[in-house]
Amino acid sequence: MSDNGKQRLPIEHRGAQLEDRFGRVARKLRISVTDRCNFRCNFCMPSNPVWLPKSEILTYEEIARVTEILAGMGVTKVRLSGGEPLMRRDIDKLVSMLRQIPEITTIAMTTNGFHLPEMAERLKGAGLDSVTVSLHSLKPERFDGIVGRQGVFKRVIEGLRIAQKVGLNPVKVNVVVVRGCNDDEILEFAKLARKTNLTVRFVEYMPFDGRKFWQPELLVSGDEILRAIESVYPLVPLAREQGSTAQVYRFADGVGGNIGVITSMSSPFCKDCDRIRITADGKIVPCMFSRDEYDVKVLLRSGASDEEIAAFIRQAFWNKFAGVETLLREQKVISHVRPMYKLGG
Ligand code: SAM
Ligand code: SF4
Repeated sequence: MSDNGKQRLPIEHRGAQLEDRFGRVARKLRISVTDRCNFRCNFCMPSNPVWLPKSEILTYEEIARVTEILAGMGVTKVRLSGGEPLMRRDIDKLVSMLRQIPEITTIAMTTNGFHLPEMAERLKGAGLDSVTVSLHSLKPERFDGIVGRQGVFKRVIEGLRIAQKVGLNPVKVNVVVVRGCNDDEILEFAKLARKTNLTVRFVEYMPFDGRKFWQPELLVSGDEILRAIESVYPLVPLAREQGSTAQVYRFADGVGGNIGVITSMSSPFCKDCDRIRITADGKIVPCMFSRDEYDVKVLLRSGASDEEIAAFIRQAFWNKFAGVETLLREQKVISHVRPMYKLGG
């Protein structure tokens, strides 16, 4: 054990792929490129967010360097998130920098979609592969209410259309389901998937809301969501991709479009979790359900070598928390860890 009670990395693991003490290997990197956002989703942002000072936010060069180091340890997929990633100026420049890293096979983005109408083509040109757009209601006024901005629904729908048009693939939709708010629209979203051939992924509401309104009663489980859809449209499960956060289904009648459920709260997939996260201010977060974070920015800004940074990340990842599954098994209350906009979802 080290001084802080964390386990030391055994010598045989000090040069290989990025692995934790439970044998899980990192393949996917989620990068929060900013904590800023033009929306104020009520399940994410506090009413009056205090943004990080710009000087604390990693530069594109710093993000690319960490990504390259991680790519050298086996990471192949990157997702850009935030805050709102399209709030970061010239984000397409970062995409093209990451595209230069040969080991990175896939670059994806999760966005609120507001800036997609003018950005989608540039992003595609820079090498972005796919995009997930968060759309929590199909009723314009309700949507505006959820995201705390007036008159934005149309633009987000247009963003989705343009993302498909420029060839980003796949284009997915994320719906955070909150009881009493939008759970009456589950079937409408299933119809949207059928009509547009999109994958609509229902995300269980997690207690990572800036306003701390979350309570167990507001959670609509993946099972409940699937039951609502299957009462009208029977579904067939698809083989789950290794490490995937979602269980995906197709429609039994062969109509296009898929349904996904992200059951982080009711039935998480911690055993083969292959994700590592970095916050906008350069903290490595091995697991979103744990408060553990490791400041790699200090190393980046103090002349550390790539080897030193790699060793630091390796040690941080080695200590990755077993996962929310453990908390559920021990019937522990899952509490607020950090708001989603600070982490990138
Ligand atoms: N701004 C972008 C967006 O909204 O897509 C990217 C960042 S956002 C933090 C990433 C994802 O987390 C989004 O799909 C968002 O809907 C989801 N999210 C935010 N707060 C959540 C919560 N409390 N529970 C579950 N998902 C949440
Ligand atoms: Fe912004 Fe995304 Fe959070 Fe909504 S979920 S407030 S769009 S970061």
